[in-house]
Amino acid sequence: MAGLRPTRQRVALAELLFAGAHRHVSAEQLHAEAASARVNVSLATIYNSLHQFREAGLLREVAVDASRSYFDTDTSDHHHFYLEDEQRVIDIPASSIVIQNLPEPPRGMNITHVDVVVRVRKVRS
Ligand SMILES: [Zn+2]
Repeated sequence: MAGLRPTRQRVALAELLFAGAHRHVSAEQLHAEAASARVNVSLATIYNSLHQFREAGLLREVAVDASRSYFDTDTSDHHHFYLEDEQRVIDIPASSIVIQNLPEPPRGMNITHVDVVVRVRKVRS
């Protein structure tokens, strides 16, 4: 339906990703889940599939820094907390953050969406 050829590996990964409630996974997490489900795929194939799912509009990528991305099965507009100690993201409803005074986009461009990642860490006493 998303215009992707349903290879056995893609179908198996889609089942792992979309079977339950909405969630955020890294490529490494999905790779570990695939291994425990006896789906034999390389990390490179996981990366490729995640990016193909993203390009097909099935996933949203949440980049928390240059080397770390999570893939969100909820593609609707919302924001995220990044829990630095646990290295995971949780949702912030779109309505909880008011974004004002966005600059005019560069000439000839539209703003597609605004992602806010709020980084949090446990209070140390
Ligand atoms: Zn999310």
